[in-house]
Amino acid sequence: MSIPELPPPNKRLGQNFLIDPNIVRKIVALAELSPSDHVLEIGPGRGILTEALSRVATRVTAIEVDPRLHAYLETKQAELPNVELVCEDALAYPVENLPIGTVVVANLPYYISTPLLFRLLDQRVRFPRMVLMLQAEVVDRLVAKPGGSDYGVLSVMGQYAAEITKSFRVSAQCFRPRPEVASAVVLLRAKERTRLNQKEEAAFRALVKAAFAHRRKTLANSLRDEGYEPHLLNETLQRLDIAPTRRAEMLSVEDFLRLALALPIHRL
Ligand code: SAM
Repeated sequence: MSIPELPPPNKRLGQNFLIDPNIVRKIVALAELSPSDHVLEIGPGRGILTEALSRVATRVTAIEVDPRLHAYLETKQAELPNVELVCEDALAYPVENLPIGTVVVANLPYYISTPLLFRLLDQRVRFPRMVLMLQAEVVDRLVAKPGGSDYGVLSVMGQYAAEITKSFRVSAQCFRPRPEVASAVVLLRAKERTRLNQKEEAAFRALVKAAFAHRRKTLANSLRDEGYEPHLLNETLQRLDIAPTRRAEMLSVEDFLRLALALPIHRL
């Protein structure tokens, strides 16, 4: 079989390939993989990380949307016997069918990193650890504390679901082509127990989104504009001792949890 040439990078698919083996080693080390671990990799690209993962894990499921790269990786299948190569959009792939305990290790395509993150966090019972390369700005938002402009929906939902550590930044020089944005690697350890059941969690997410929908407005005004009943809202805020004049960015994750549990579920 003739080996297909490496296809040129497709910018639209966020193809900035890692070329630095040292960064690959650091990412794999951070995942603390044991020989029995199953790994999910989203966007294997040219396979630099996939190869390293296949050496330390029992099985790797690698989902690549680009059929040209998928075909290229298939020619390397003999070197990657424990890698299941899937050609599919990771946003459509049924991650809920992966075994519980699967570790996610990926240099994510930045243009869809936020919806992918939410999808993975939704399935956190399955994914105890995730080591992800992301746009540095997204990592800053994930770890942000209340009071700053980085703090928002991603911070609250992320910190509710996982312990998050910003691990290290990665220079643009470590990729080809070089990305135009800064990159960083983050470690997310899913919380084993979270306080809300599925229905409450949906209400919590709706509340957090509504609270940040109008960042410059007060919490009460933003929620009212998003359809929360003003009288009930004011009464609840008062009962919880949360000043209605505060802005969403001043509320802790705990404040949002208390508020979500106290407000009737009326926006589902
Ligand atoms: N893992 C490789 C590396 O580190 O060199 C490539 C990382 S590159 C930043 C992101 C990869 O995700 C690309 O190979 C791209 O084709 C792939 N990708 C983009 N959108 C995708 C999607 N919706 N589902 C799965 N893979 C996707």
